[in-house]
Amino acid sequence: MDHALAFSPDYATARQRIRTAAEHARWEQQALALGLDDLTIDVVWRGPKNAKRVLVVSSGLHGIEGYLGSAIQQTFLAGHMAEQELPEDVAIVFLHALNPYGFAHLRRVNEDNVDLNRNFLGKGESFTGSPPMYADLDSFFNPKSPPRAPWTTFPRALWLIARHGLGSLKETLPVGQYEFPKGLFFGGHAPSKTQELLDEHLPTWLGDAEQVVHIDFHTGLGPRATYKLFVNREANDPAVDDVKRWFGNDVVEAWDPAATSYTIRGGLGTWLAERFPDARYDELTAEFGTRNVVQIVEALRSENRAHHWGKPGSAASRAASNRMMQAFAPIDGGWRRDCVEQGIGIVRQALAALLETP
Ligand SMILES: [Zn+2]
Repeated sequence: MDHALAFSPDYATARQRIRTAAEHARWEQQALALGLDDLTIDVVWRGPKNAKRVLVVSSGLHGIEGYLGSAIQQTFLAGHMAEQELPEDVAIVFLHALNPYGFAHLRRVNEDNVDLNRNFLGKGESFTGSPPMYADLDSFFNPKSPPRAPWTTFPRALWLIARHGLGSLKETLPVGQYEFPKGLFFGGHAPSKTQELLDEHLPTWLGDAEQVVHIDFHTGLGPRATYKLFVNREANDPAVDDVKRWFGNDVVEAWDPAATSYTIRGGLGTWLAERFPDARYDELTAEFGTRNVVQIVEALRSENRAHHWGKPGSAASRAASNRMMQAFAPIDGGWRRDCVEQGIGIVRQALAALLETP
């Protein structure tokens, strides 16, 4: 089968396909309602609820990025691996569309403009603050006027990069901020509904786990149709050696202040490790490359502008959604096929890693 076909045209179809595929594969399922429209986070799983070893595969924490994760989950469910025999203490849990609003509305953020991967602050952390340079950048990245012709913004983005340097922009913009509710990378003023639902329901599957390997699928930065696995551990943590052995030295990146990856606040992985302290919890953010950083930032900027200051359904707002698709779920058969195949490979490696421990 052509894996590009596993991509759904919209959130509602993706969800229906996941439910149908889970039924065919005889996995169990439960829909967690967001309490908004008909939006749900769907959990589909096989194996016992109190499993000692659990593979978690999640999609759509960043809304629109869920097109790829959903396609990977569907492809796995449709394949023979979905019915492969497993030891009785092993479970596989798929979390479909962690940010269903963003998925349904082609946004990266949720119904409150919150970047969910900046919303999972740990105990004792407060929803306040922003990186020192952020206020300067907000006027550029969040202009308070309806969108204009798109070609006028490119030179300004390049000028900004020339002035501040790409490195310092990368360290400032995506870190997470809690002071500009209509700005980019806003982490919220309180735990999101998604966080509440995970807090309430995840112990059902992970409460007794001793080992969890969790792949959280994303799209965006990086060379087109290739991926990196960002492991939620510091580079000198000996556990990183296992992760590199499981997934390959060249694709795994741990936290390293000297490297290109920036340290974000409120990431899902840190919160999960804290929430389940009795488990060895390896959370990996699988990030598949789409377009270059200027195109991605520009897509985020124009969509954010159209959403807050433009007219819904206008030509400018449709153009902005279109750019979001190109930046986070390219309508390109080659990209889609390659990424689903690689994604399935990652899930396979994660399962093998889990089965390696007796
Ligand atoms: Zn993402």
